[in-house]
Order: sequence, then structure tokens, then C-alpha cells
Amino acid sequence: MEKSTNNRDVKRSNRIDTLRAILEAGRVSQPALAARLGHSGPTVLQNVRELMALGLVEEAGEFESTGGRKARAFAPVRTARAAAGLEITRAHVGAVVIDLSGALLHHERLSVPFEMTDAYFRRLGEIARGLPQRAGVPAERMLGVGVSLPGAVDATETVLISSHVLGLRNVATENFTRYVPGPCSFINDANAAGLAEARGRADLDSSVYLSLSNSVGGAIFTGGRLYMGGRLRAGEFGHNTLVPDGRPCYCGKRGCLDAYCNAELLSGLTGGNLAAFFEGVRAGDERLTAAWREYLEHLAVAVNNLYMTFDCPVVAGGYVGSYLEEFGGGLRELLAQRNTFEPDASYLKFCRYKVGASAVGAALLRVEDFLLSL
Ligand SMILES: [Zn+2]
Repeated sequence: MEKSTNNRDVKRSNRIDTLRAILEAGRVSQPALAARLGHSGPTVLQNVRELMALGLVEEAGEFESTGGRKARAFAPVRTARAAAGLEITRAHVGAVVIDLSGALLHHERLSVPFEMTDAYFRRLGEIARGLPQRAGVPAERMLGVGVSLPGAVDATETVLISSHVLGLRNVATENFTRYVPGPCSFINDANAAGLAEARGRADLDSSVYLSLSNSVGGAIFTGGRLYMGGRLRAGEFGHNTLVPDGRPCYCGKRGCLDAYCNAELLSGLTGGNLAAFFEGVRAGDERLTAAWREYLEHLAVAVNNLYMTFDCPVVAGGYVGSYLEEFGGGLRELLAQRNTFEPDASYLKFCRYKVGASAVGAALLRVEDFLLSL
């Protein structure tokens, strides 16, 4: 009895791994899939057949091979299911719909200031209910809604333990989804964004995510898993002390990294518009360029500290992170100079989601739940 249960578990987990591999690879041949998974050809074929019967994988022609038979190709049916994500911030609600591979099908950012009222929660419900249609996804394909919250969420996802940004303590997470249809999941915003960035990237199995938005936070991944810390506060890099007794931080202390690297320090110079700030830097505005240089000098200290502590890739994301691809050259130089071991900063990675990363990461929880249910 026990043995047959184990066999069944192994079969299930092989099938889930097969789907993950096809989702990551896109179009892939049967032999390539077998090599990737370390499964035999017949095992791969059996799993693929089952996934095809579920409508999650499809035949995708053949690959030319050097001599012998052509190899059959398979591809994921990425939109067989979809998941929604909501990102709650102080002044906005971000909303996304993603497919099974995590690709963004729809993104919107609405000016909806948080308030602890029934009207606010009704508004969240309205937004969520309209998402499938706005994303062009039939409602019956939706896997539910993941919600990203700016604060610590307990391990059972039932309590928002504290949120400085929203001014909340020990609030039941189900408040947020009172009017939201379908199953829901909850996650801290920086953890969610880190999850979105690390998904499907073996090089980021152990990595650190640094979120540079209107507040600074982060997430730590080890062996492909989120490291949560003893009291679920791991990755609060924003409150590492950067300058002893330095600028006041919103947390009440002085000299925190947040007070030197939050996005509002930059957007505040251009009327709250971060895009306008970077347009100014691009145009060579001296005042803005000087501010950017100063920002990068502080950021370089913080990123180097993370690298020296964790010895792994550091992914820079958040509002400012999405501009680093174009404007981050100076940061790499500063990091290479600071690096104790070699004059190199290739460990620094720029985020791939330019918008909505936290909402995407929250939606991924619903996708993960679905995969584990197969
Ligand atoms: Zn602080």
C-alpha cells in the first residue's frame, strides 16, 4: 500500500516536472525533454500524453535531426489557464493577468488610495471581477487571484501582521478579498516581485532581490526557495543602516538605506514623476544627473554589502530598478571598484519585469497551486 502511494507520488511529481520543463522551454523535442528531466523516452512520452489529455500541452511539429527519424516537438498551451494578481500600495492598485508560463497578458495600474473601508474592498472586487474580460481570458480558465501586500504576511497567509505603508497591524487578509471571486493567495510585495524575477531561472535559485520602489525592500532565495527569516522579516534591506545617524527614515530610525535609495527621492525632483526624472537625466540636466550620481553611490554601497554577505546574484528591481538597464552603467563601475575579490560586477542583474512584478509574483502563487494540484 505504502509502496503504491509512493509510486503514485513519484508519477505525479514527474508529470508536474514535465509540465514545468515544457513551460520553461517553450517548443521542445522529446529527446531534449528527456535529457532535461533525466527521464527515459517512454516516461516522457507517457507524461506528455497525460498533459495533452488535460489540454496543457500540444504537439508542435517535428525537429529536424541529423540522420534517423525526426524528433516530435511539444509546446505548452500557455493560456490553458490564467491567474490574476493584485498589488496593493498606499496610493495605487496594480493588477495583472498572467498565463501558465508567467507571461504578462494584461497590466493596469489604477489610482486607488488605500483606506480600511468596505468601499475600498468593494472596489478591489470590481477590479478583480473585470480582469479576465480586460485580459481576453475566459473566466472559467482563471485560477484565482494572488494579492501582494506591502507588509509581513504570516505563513498561513491569513494575517497581515504589520504594514507600515498601510498603517495596519494584525489584520485578516481575507478583508482584501471579501468581494474577489475565486481562490486567493497572499504574499509580501518584495517577496512576490523576487519570485517573479527568479521564476524559471536556475541562475537565480540562490539570489537576492532588491526592490527600489517608494520604499526599499527585498527578498532572499536559497536553493530555489524564499528564505523568510525567524519572524518573517528577512530581506528588509531598506532598514540596513547605510549612514550612522544619517537622514531620518520613515521607520523612525536614522540613516537607513531606504532614506537614501527610495524612488521618491528621485521622482520628488520632477513633480512625483519618475519617468520625467530619467528623461531629464537622459537630456543631461545637471541637477538631476548629480542627484542620480549621488543615488548610485549610495546604492553601490548597499548592493556591494549584499553581495559580500550572500555571495550570489543581486537582482535590482522596483520602480528604479526598471530604469537600470539604461541608466545603470555607472552603478556597475562603482560596484566593480568596491568588489573586494575581483574588479567585476556581473553579479548585478537588472529586473526583467518593468511593471507589475509584485502582482505577477502574487499571481504565480495561484499558478503554483494549480501545478501542485495536477
Ligand atoms: Zn528605516
